[in-house]
Amino acid sequence: EMLLIGLTGGIGSGKSTVADALAARGAGVIDTDVIARELTEPEQPALAEIAATFGADLIGPDGRLDRDALRMQVFSDPDARTRLEGILHPRIKDRMLERLAALDAPYAVLVIPLLFETNQHTLVDRVLVVDIPEGAQRERVRRRSGLTLGEIDRIVASQISREERLALADDILDNSGDLPALLAQAERIHLKYIDLAEDGKD
Ligand code: ATP
Repeated sequence: EMLLIGLTGGIGSGKSTVADALAARGAGVIDTDVIARELTEPEQPALAEIAATFGADLIGPDGRLDRDALRMQVFSDPDARTRLEGILHPRIKDRMLERLAALDAPYAVLVIPLLFETNQHTLVDRVLVVDIPEGAQRERVRRRSGLTLGEIDRIVASQISREERLALADDILDNSGDLPALLAQAERIHLKYIDLAEDGKD
């Protein structure tokens, strides 16, 4: 059985950056955001179901999903959000487990933004949290996305709190510093996971 790490953190915390660094070292990385995007590409069954549920106007003339419009629709409506999750989450999980079964790596990292919110921490051996102070989080998300501060705050408020997330973590990377500081921590945790994976084989 492969050592399974669940990688999570709030929006803009640095999950993808850490996942890329671990993948470059040889970890088997499966990113559920990537899977969610694949599942909602043109012609995919999940996209048809989203259009049937939320309106065909969410699909542009090019057949592509208007992600911003969908996000607006579900953020102001918890029932809509539940319906969207009902369409996507089972499919994401199936595809994730399929890829996991095909992985050949010393250990596997599942990148799951809503790991605790969706109870998927029960699937993994250890939880790795990328932690970021809220001020830096708002700044980084704003710089990278077209979201307003109000929208960012609503997304942050819809996720588990920073304190709860940290309390549930087995390992924590502190991303309050610069990128080299984060990458140095990623290198250390990679070596730890290699050791743990070796121990697990005895
Ligand atoms: P999301 O939740 O939106 O998927 P994420 O948790 O995967 O985000 P990243 O995409 O890794 O986060 O990082 C968010 C942004 O912040 C990126 O543009 C990234 O390059 C930048 N970033 C990450 N860590 C740092 C850092 N320590 N210093 C400066 N910029 C950083």
